[in-house]
Amino acid sequence: MNRRPTKAPDRAQPAATEELRHRIARELGSHGLKGTPQRMLVAQLLLRAPRHMTAEQILKEINHTGHRVSKATVYNTLNMLSEHGLIREINLGGDHTVYDSTATPHHHFHNVDTGELVDIRPDQLDLQRLPPLPEGTEAAGVEVVIRVRQRTG
Ligand SMILES: [Zn+2]
Repeated sequence: MNRRPTKAPDRAQPAATEELRHRIARELGSHGLKGTPQRMLVAQLLLRAPRHMTAEQILKEINHTGHRVSKATVYNTLNMLSEHGLIREINLGGDHTVYDSTATPHHHFHNVDTGELVDIRPDQLDLQRLPPLPEGTEAAGVEVVIRVRQRTG
């Protein structure tokens, strides 16, 4: 395999990688899903650190490691992981979807200039007054995206 020097600070050490593999396989198994090698690649890449990535970025990083996974497999795996609550899908408008390795509820800053997403812990945002819910509904979740841009001048 083609080993490149790593510069990304979030690369996990081998021991942690092994632990992560087991955790993912266990979680997939608990949802009745098979941890096929390709699913494992996609899941490990996203879940090894708190991060937000598009499907394209995930595909690119996997290809960089010398593995080959099709675009369809990446999308299918991400959909499956998000349907089972192992990751979160954040839609930023249009077809701009970002996948979040942090599956517990939280909010985001979205920098519209850089595209960067930054987590906001739930306790950092005060949602005291919500409007009455539409008749016959109950709240299924509240996620806030605060759009920011680079300040000029
Ligand atoms: Zn997040």
